[in-house]
Amino acid sequence: MHRMKKMKTIKTFNLKYLNELLNRDNATLVGEYEKLNSTISIHFTCNCNTNYKKVFSEISYYGGAFCKECTKKNTSKKMKETCLKVYGKIVPYLV
Ligand SMILES: [Zn+2]
Repeated sequence: MHRMKKMKTIKTFNLKYLNELLNRDNATLVGEYEKLNSTISIHFTCNCNTNYKKVFSEISYYGGAFCKECTKKNTSKKMKETCLKVYGKIVPYLV
């Protein structure tokens, strides 16, 4: 039990968690998955209607349930927000 507490940051890669991620990012799951694990490729439709495939753990830890283009957009948006927070303005060479 003590060990479980320490590992609470480790996610269980199950369907419930996958649905949470997809709902959060407005993506739709394509197909059905009976068995899931962190290295399985997930087919989904991004909120921009692009079909995309991404490894479950990458959806979880890197970028979320978005296609390549949206991930790029999100990353630059996030960098701008971070930039604003840290410097109080957009620093062009950082974004
Ligand atoms: Zn997209």
